[in-house]
Amino acid sequence: MKINKPSAPLNINPNACDGCGVCIDICPAQVFEMVELSKEEINELSFFGRLKVRIKGNVKSQVVHPESCIECGKCVSACHERAISLHRLKQSA
Ligand code: SF4
Ligand code: SF4
Repeated sequence: MKINKPSAPLNINPNACDGCGVCIDICPAQVFEMVELSKEEINELSFFGRLKVRIKGNVKSQVVHPESCIECGKCVSACHERAISLHRLKQSA
């Protein structure tokens, strides 16, 4: 599934995301975009993942600009589905 790019400091659980768009609105760095899923991508989802995607029109949030993430954590806090996890890659030692 092409939901997340491997280099992203963020991960969106595709089975948890319901495509509400809150993360897109709240992100100050335009890291996310809403994408329409292909039939193949929908078929890879869990039963509940498929139900969620149908309600919002077969769309889910995707990490498209991971390099722009400033790791503020706003998206993690705002996601009502707890679908987003943030790996603090930019933390200094
Ligand atoms: S806020 Fe959460 S549920 Fe809503 S689109 Fe973003 S990842 Fe998906
Ligand atoms: S941590 Fe902040 S900058 Fe990074 S994707 Fe989430 S809201 Fe955007």
